[in-house]
Amino acid sequence: MYDIIIIGMGISGITASIYAKRAGKSVLLIDKSAPGGLLNKIDSITNYPGLPNISGPDFALNLLNQINNLEIPYKIEEVTSLKLNGKKKIVKTTNNEYSCKNIILALGRNPKFLGLKNEQNLLGRGVSTCALCDAFFYKNKNIALVGTGNSALQEALYLTNVVNKIYLINRRDGFRGDEYLVEQVKNNPKIEIIYNANIDSLNESDNTLKSITLDNGKTIDVSGVFIYIGFIPATNFLDKKLLDDNGYIKVNKNFETEIKGVYAIGDCLNKDIYQLITAASDGARVINNIE
Ligand SMILES: Cc1cc2nc3c(=O)[nH]c(=O)nc-3n(C[C@H](O)[C@H](O)[C@H](O)COP(=O)(O)OP(=O)(O)OC[C@H]3O[C@@H](n4cnc5c(N)ncnc54)[C@H](O)[C@@H]3O)c2cc1C
Repeated sequence: MYDIIIIGMGISGITASIYAKRAGKSVLLIDKSAPGGLLNKIDSITNYPGLPNISGPDFALNLLNQINNLEIPYKIEEVTSLKLNGKKKIVKTTNNEYSCKNIILALGRNPKFLGLKNEQNLLGRGVSTCALCDAFFYKNKNIALVGTGNSALQEALYLTNVVNKIYLINRRDGFRGDEYLVEQVKNNPKIEIIYNANIDSLNESDNTLKSITLDNGKTIDVSGVFIYIGFIPATNFLDKKLLDDNGYIKVNKNFETEIKGVYAIGDCLNKDIYQLITAASDGARVINNIE
């Protein structure tokens, strides 16, 4: 039986594992996907202190090397359910069952979609939520990008290195992102901002996106649509009593949920700043509260 099982190998979960190991705890990390979580989808990070410019995948690789050097075990399996009654907690995955005294949920968030009828079918055939993963498929093509927050603006700027033109669809007349990014986007000749508009339909032929029609009636030929309109916490397999109305995990100031021995950290919490440094900070702090 492990002292701590950490579900999620993004920066929050991996940081927690490093602090746990150094505190002498036995710890197991589990993730359904590549270690590093969201880091694997970020082109370049320029706001992490001490690392003035690093790619997300390089950052993820550094984290993986660090846990390997510390001999922290990990499994690549999807967690499907938890048994949380009693002192011994059970974590069930697609392949196995593990037991532990404490669980840390470091589950992160999944991207939100527009809710258009053929959107899911067109994933990978014109619809994307990851510029770093998919930009290559749109080399020298025209694309649309939806969103006005920092992630959307950062990704639009990254995509200008690859695509021919970006129509940035902005449902309002302002932006949610930081001013310095907004200025860069506004001044980039490859980006045309279309204000006060939403996508009404994704028009396809042969199962491939060909154009979009906006709610102002205009149709624009594009090969891809990148969607950055927010996130939903990856908590749907958890008991609803652990969650707030928006699906985020409820914790006290010690990151403890209402079940003793069950903690949560990182982007799956309702917080004011969703950044690498705040997720890492949660990971460091939570271990202090676990006996
Ligand atoms: C496009 C983009 C650009 C960004 N740029 C920056 C930036 O420049 N600087 C910055 O500071 N922040 C940036 N961020 C924010 C930052 O990436 C996140 O705040 C941070 O990575 C969150 O880390 P986390 O550990 O909480 O979650 P995540 O990295 O999302 O990790 C959660 C992990 O949990 C796993 N998981 C979920 N459910 C299960 C399950 N049932 N079973 C097993 N595993 C599961 C997932 O596979 C995932 O690996 C950016 C975010 C995006 C989307």
